Amino acid sequence: METQAAAHSRSRSNLRSIWLLALVLFATLPTLGCHPLSPKRIDITRQYVAPELLQANALPIERGKPRPVIDTIGWVIGIPSKLLFWNRKIENHAISAETEQVLAGYLEENHLQHVKVRLNQYRPFDDFRRLSKNRSVAWPWRYTFGTFSVLGEAIVPGRLFGGDHFNPFTNTVHLYSDVPAIALHEAAHAKDFSRRCFQGTYAALYALPVVPLYHESIATSDVMDYGETSLHDPELQRQAYNVLYPAYGTYVGGAAGTIFPPISFPAYYGSVAAGHLAGRLQSRRIGNDWEGRHDEPQLEVEQSTLGNEDGNISDDERLEYQVRE
Ligand SMILES: [Zn+2]
Repeated sequence: METQAAAHSRSRSNLRSIWLLALVLFATLPTLGCHPLSPKRIDITRQYVAPELLQANALPIERGKPRPVIDTIGWVIGIPSKLLFWNRKIENHAISAETEQVLAGYLEENHLQHVKVRLNQYRPFDDFRRLSKNRSVAWPWRYTFGTFSVLGEAIVPGRLFGGDHFNPFTNTVHLYSDVPAIALHEAAHAKDFSRRCFQGTYAALYALPVVPLYHESIATSDVMDYGETSLHDPELQRQAYNVLYPAYGTYVGGAAGTIFPPISFPAYYGSVAAGHLAGRLQSRRIGNDWEGRHDEPQLEVEQSTLGNEDGNISDDERLEYQVRE
């Protein structure tokens, strides 16, 4: 049984942990704007893609049929996420043509024709088929972690419960939110994986504590760069700062919570709040910069010259196919 002195000592220790974390958050807040999430393009000089997956992906973007009852229930289930990220289009289960167009441009420019995008669509059997074809992930990873990941998507359908994500084992982006910055972020994960030799290992590492911060910062930094250098779209840049910064905060908070379990709750929400603050400060700065530098802000998706009409890639282009087992 715990004595009163021991209880006091424990509560003092918890208090110290809270202060320590608050100091860490305070110290890292200013760096959020310039370090882990600053614009940085993912280098895709080399990409490793399973040819079977590319050949089977005649229709890279698919859309689920509207199901008003299910989508309305999904919208309601997504209310906490809408509040957390302060955006009503999060998990609205109604993805617009504009978001689809931005995403299609990104996939083409970054040679991601092997990636499947499911817009509010539930297709677990197709995903199992993609899992078996995705030989860029070694089979021991595919038939353990990969199988569990697809089973998870089948049992807890995003169509109802939301949760935009990229599954590296099936090379599939699942979207339920009508937010272009989130769509690009998930596709940026696909881009990051495509340049990795050991994609299964890279995916498995994501399951470890703190490690996701690395993967997440790479994907978000690429979106920041894409908004600035390819789309020339200040609105998308502002959206990226406003949404992806607090989203990164969820990972910072999750990591802090695993290091200091007693303060996981304040760490999580404190990090999201810090992300909102840092993101909004950055997005305001973007607005001012653009007004000064660009006369006509425009939404323009640059079309890649790579790939022919059939979606095939010729030999002299940068895509390098390498099948790994
Ligand atoms: Zn992510």
